Amino acid sequence: MRKVVKFGGSSLADAAQFRKVADIIHSDPARRFVVVSAPGKRSDKDTKVTDMLYDCYRSAKGSGKIQDKFEAIMARYQEILDGLNLDLDLSDEFEQIRRNFEDGIGVEYAASRGEYLNGRIMAALLEWPFVDAAQIIRFHEDGTLDSETTNRLTGEALGELEHAVIPGFYGAQEDGTVRTFSRGGSDITGSLAARAIMADLYENWTDVSGMLVTDPRIVKNPEVIETVTYRELRELSYMGATVLHEDAIFPVRREGIPINIRNTNRPEDKGTFIVESTCRRPPYTITGIAGKKGFCSINIEKSMMNGEIGFGRRVLQVFEDQGISFEHTPSGIDTFTVIVHQSEFEDKEQQVIAGLHRLVHPDVVEMESDLALIAVVGRGMRSNRGTAGRIFSALAHANVNVRMIDQGSSELNIIIGVDNRDFETAIQAIYDIFVLTRI
Ligand code: ASP
Repeated sequence: MRKVVKFGGSSLADAAQFRKVADIIHSDPARRFVVVSAPGKRSDKDTKVTDMLYDCYRSAKGSGKIQDKFEAIMARYQEILDGLNLDLDLSDEFEQIRRNFEDGIGVEYAASRGEYLNGRIMAALLEWPFVDAAQIIRFHEDGTLDSETTNRLTGEALGELEHAVIPGFYGAQEDGTVRTFSRGGSDITGSLAARAIMADLYENWTDVSGMLVTDPRIVKNPEVIETVTYRELRELSYMGATVLHEDAIFPVRREGIPINIRNTNRPEDKGTFIVESTCRRPPYTITGIAGKKGFCSINIEKSMMNGEIGFGRRVLQVFEDQGISFEHTPSGIDTFTVIVHQSEFEDKEQQVIAGLHRLVHPDVVEMESDLALIAVVGRGMRSNRGTAGRIFSALAHANVNVRMIDQGSSELNIIIGVDNRDFETAIQAIYDIFVLTRI
């Protein structure tokens, strides 16, 4: 059994967290390849080392004065080293980094040093080999990942090793220029390593015990999702539920490697498994509920519309011409509605109306704003009767007016549009009817 284990910034924010991580790694011999983030926040008011590095580099390029900021970064690492009683001298590394900052080496290099240094510390603590991501994660010159070269280099480098520590978030172009992924990108490094060594499992350790059924800011202490499929995850994350970097899914998904989201502070919790497919049913029909506020609907009416071939295409053409992406298009006999993000639409509203008049000659165009969309997602819906009925009766009991309904052909989700002001009440009502009553 081979596992790649990735630890996020909050799991490595100080020496005490490093110790917990080492215990977790030692408790399972299959945990052979470790990917680390940079030190995260130790408390709510703290600053992540990655942010300190960005800030320090900005000063290097601006005023040129970086002494205080650079020392604050060094202090974060020294505190970890002291707390671990580690005899690792990073002063040459810091000297080199400082010189590179002063020479204006590049902001991506600057940001990457948070993971690099944390990787060095973790390797020293575990007494495992350190593999620099710059040697194995390859980027094209345009900043996109060269996934095939990465897969080959990573497979070759790790294939020879029993254990290794790899810093997340960055890699390099062929000429050695360091490049980074977007923020939160250590998740991607872990996924790439798991793919390259054909791991049995990719464990992603963070500070929550998995993915929650819904947003804890809306529902108090929501349950943890035990198993979610990649397709369900995609639906939920699109509607705002975040658990992993979006680009971390693809490398492991193509090899059928499951991901397990775990909590460093509660290692006894099983966390959430993200899998390609499963015969395990969710305990309560639905898998998750997610949603977003701030949509707007454009309702187009035209008599005899249903006989007019190309009507829908022309409507959508108007939105395409304005560079607006649409979310849903519920339609009736003589009505066609387009739902868009209010923020993308507001400034172009008049151009869209003019475009619609020109291209489709509607009888009426009406707009409604302040719409919230809620996605109720679950692979279990296909095999359970009455899911929609339960949702709507729960909403009616909670006095929520449903303004739009859309069920995808996959029967994997039902999208409901409600007024922004009813958003929280609606999510609570749906959660209660499925999860609390467990039907
Ligand atoms: N340290 C980087 C960030 O803060 C990458 C990561 O943690 O995954 O975004």
